[in-house]
Amino acid sequence: MSGNFAMTIDGRAVEAAQTVEVRNPATGEVFAAAPDAAVEDLDLAVDAATRAFPKWRDTPIAERKAALVKAAEAIEAHADELAALFVKEQGRPLPGAKMEISGAAMWLKATTMLDIPIDITEDSEKRRVEVHHVPLGVVCGIVPWNFPVLLAAWKIGPALLAGNTLVLKPSPFTPLCTLRIGELIRGAFPAGVINVISGGDALGPLMTSHPGFAKISFTGSTATGRRVMESAAKDLKRLTLELGGNDAAIVLPDVDVDAVAEQLFEGAFHNTAQVCVATKRLYIHADIYDALRDRLHQLAKDLPVGDGAEQGNRYGPIQNEPQYRRVLALLDDARANGLTLLEGGPVPERGYFVPLTLVDNPPEDSRVVVEEAFGPVLPLLKFTDVDDAIARANDTEYGLAGAVWSRDVEAATAIAHRLDTGTVWINQNLQSTPFTPLAGAKQSGFGQENGVPGLLEFTRPKAIFIPKAA
Ligand code: NAD
Repeated sequence: MSGNFAMTIDGRAVEAAQTVEVRNPATGEVFAAAPDAAVEDLDLAVDAATRAFPKWRDTPIAERKAALVKAAEAIEAHADELAALFVKEQGRPLPGAKMEISGAAMWLKATTMLDIPIDITEDSEKRRVEVHHVPLGVVCGIVPWNFPVLLAAWKIGPALLAGNTLVLKPSPFTPLCTLRIGELIRGAFPAGVINVISGGDALGPLMTSHPGFAKISFTGSTATGRRVMESAAKDLKRLTLELGGNDAAIVLPDVDVDAVAEQLFEGAFHNTAQVCVATKRLYIHADIYDALRDRLHQLAKDLPVGDGAEQGNRYGPIQNEPQYRRVLALLDDARANGLTLLEGGPVPERGYFVPLTLVDNPPEDSRVVVEEAFGPVLPLLKFTDVDDAIARANDTEYGLAGAVWSRDVEAATAIAHRLDTGTVWINQNLQSTPFTPLAGAKQSGFGQENGVPGLLEFTRPKAIFIPKAA
């Protein structure tokens, strides 16, 4: 075991009486321990955030922005250390780990370019009506394990910029970078403005039912999102839910197969396919189906999968054992139903590794098509009629993102308008920016993150009617 990770509560390092084990997914071995917050620790964090709120709310926005920039700089200054730790706890190979750490710092800085608008709904001789957007109070931030640092930054930036205080909880599978970041950035803010607590499975429900929170900003699975919403209903907490997806990409027959194959592959398998907005169903026109399938299969065989700490590996393990077991069960189901699996190259025997796998034109109602695999299993689905491909792409409870691939950008854009998702990419994928809201349709989400709309999710409107002198 190594490392000494403490929580951040009220501007100080706080240990917990109990700890949770943290495993390296590339080996399956425990290598560190994280604090397991008890309800008393949660109360301390909520109390600290509650006390800090009035002063932080009244701090000029320019000062709040300056504090966020300072926090971003503290992360950047420790990017190498954080990236090495990220590889150990999350599993992603080092280049991707570095991208996430610097991406999080960049995102925090970019958030400070946003401003909170004041809407004027009337400015007549009689009066002026101003709608201000005021902070909510203490925010509960809950983050998953697939992009633990970036998705934490997506909450820290807008929550604090808007004038709220925050209690942030990473996933029990990836608590370490977030705890370390708490330590690095706590000095940038007054005590109690940012609190980072960690714990096991019991901590999330304790947080969502805690009466001290005005809002829950949650990123995770749709199943957990439903539980969070139920829990929030008790005292009508405000909610943002960024949930699961089963994103479809539609590939038209005019693409240059060799030119797009690797981009399509990466769009599905980046981070070992543990990306909410990854391509999870690939609809390929029959005219190019065989050629593209063979090209993708070759990439699956060629691109190296292994320990992210070893140079040259493009894809790492599945992040945790329960997720690994879920993906294996999905593959067993596919085999039991006689589906054709096209496997990639060999993977290490120890750790949570699964070969990158394509499923050759499975029935539309098979589990690998209907369920979010959240692991390296990609169904390839043949179509001949574009209307049929769009209908199949939309036939899901999810609606996070989608993609269309064609040389005819106009035709692709017309298809984009017909996809029931919050984001559609044309001839690209996995793109998001600090200025563009990510908003899942249907059961992929409730509310949005990023951009001014995402920032306003951390506020409530307040209308002020100001009379003018007669
Ligand atoms: P998860 O729902 O199991 O866990 C997410 C977080 O919620 C963790 O911190 C967990 O400890 C906590 N949690 C678990 N049960 C809880 C409860 N009852 N109440 C409150 N909190 C609870 O999700 P995961 O397996 O960590 O992440 C994978 C899922 O997240 C996938 O479905 C993926 O698509 C989704 N995701 C969505 C986005 C997005 O922006 N829409 C981004 C990343 C991941």
